[in-house]
Amino acid sequence: MINCGSSSVKYQLFDMANETLLAKGIVEKIGEEVSVIRHAARGQEVRHEARVASHEEAFAHIRRALLEPPAGVISSPDGIDAIGHRVVHGGERFVASTLIDDTVIAALEEFSALAPLHNPPNLVGIRCAARAFPGKPNVAVFDTAFHQTMPRHSFIYAIPYELYEKGRIRRYGFHGTSHRFVTLRAAEMLGVALDNFRAITCHLGNGCSMAAVAGGRSVDTTMGLTPLEGLVMGTRSGDIDPAIIFHLARTEGMSLEAIDALLNKRSGLLGLSGLSNDCRTLTQAAPTHERARLALDVFCYRIRKYIGAYLAVLGRVHAIIFTGGIGENNAPIRRQILEGLEPLGIELDPAANEARGREATISTPASRIRILVVPTNEELMIARDTLAVTRKQ
Ligand code: AMP
Repeated sequence: MINCGSSSVKYQLFDMANETLLAKGIVEKIGEEVSVIRHAARGQEVRHEARVASHEEAFAHIRRALLEPPAGVISSPDGIDAIGHRVVHGGERFVASTLIDDTVIAALEEFSALAPLHNPPNLVGIRCAARAFPGKPNVAVFDTAFHQTMPRHSFIYAIPYELYEKGRIRRYGFHGTSHRFVTLRAAEMLGVALDNFRAITCHLGNGCSMAAVAGGRSVDTTMGLTPLEGLVMGTRSGDIDPAIIFHLARTEGMSLEAIDALLNKRSGLLGLSGLSNDCRTLTQAAPTHERARLALDVFCYRIRKYIGAYLAVLGRVHAIIFTGGIGENNAPIRRQILEGLEPLGIELDPAANEARGREATISTPASRIRILVVPTNEELMIARDTLAVTRKQ
């Protein structure tokens, strides 16, 4: 599985016979003076620095790392059956993972306008992988696909309808692979048939989003046309009054690019606290740092508000699921989000809530709604989809 960004390529190689991870690594700072290459396999991690001028070169490093001793895990390229790619935006066209051919590539190029930061590097990754491992099937797994089941009233913005008809401006949602992974796993953990399963999934990492899931399908999510909408994130504002943008342009003379950077890179936990985008740092600082406390208060309040909204959307739910770096590890944040929701049938068990980074039920036995921690594994989900799609061919 390949996750290709503008200056990095992450990869993981799975043996899908038993879903074991054989090797993983990352090439970072591609195109900079010094790039960082990390590869972990056979219980060892190697890290070295070298100049990696292009994504093409990054794939040459990855190929060598997988094939050559001492860290190599396959003896020939035929040790790889297929390659799955994380693709951020699949537009309205891709409702599930898809075998990549020239028509799919053309469609992804078209969606680059909707995700200019993400889709172009994803496409570079697809092209490089096809050259580094010729003849292997490549599969695209979309961040948006899981949310394509949202009904029209939840994905349409109340702006002139022609903007949707002509430019496909609507809510898409992201993190779909993660929301889907934890939905499947939680239904399994609770022994509920997926077709009946209703849940609120909270993916809380550096990027944060929630989904309302009915019958195992996404019916609403907090991110929109882009990942900027919804929850407060590490550096993104989440929901704001759009008029703030006009106000900043008029009163501060800010350019659109400057406002874009302000809302995406300098807002959220970082912008509020003035200290860090990292929740761990803020949780530690909160007792003595007023603005760290404020940042966490706003962060938790927004999530709580969406829990209320999604309870109303869904009517009844089996579970609230926490995942992502914060959702899996940060017990004080989970407590602050859920405190006082007992009248709604949501009762956190303080001792069970100490769980970190592992599957756990953290609600009391009396809680009408189960509260679960389910570590996400988007990479494995991509590998599973890749296997399923290539088997169908
Ligand atoms: P992610 O984008 O999923 O890697 O999540 C990043 C966020 O998760 C940061 O705000 C971290 O503070 C938080 N996080 C990751 N690992 C831990 C941990 N072991 N304990 C507490 N917070 C963590």
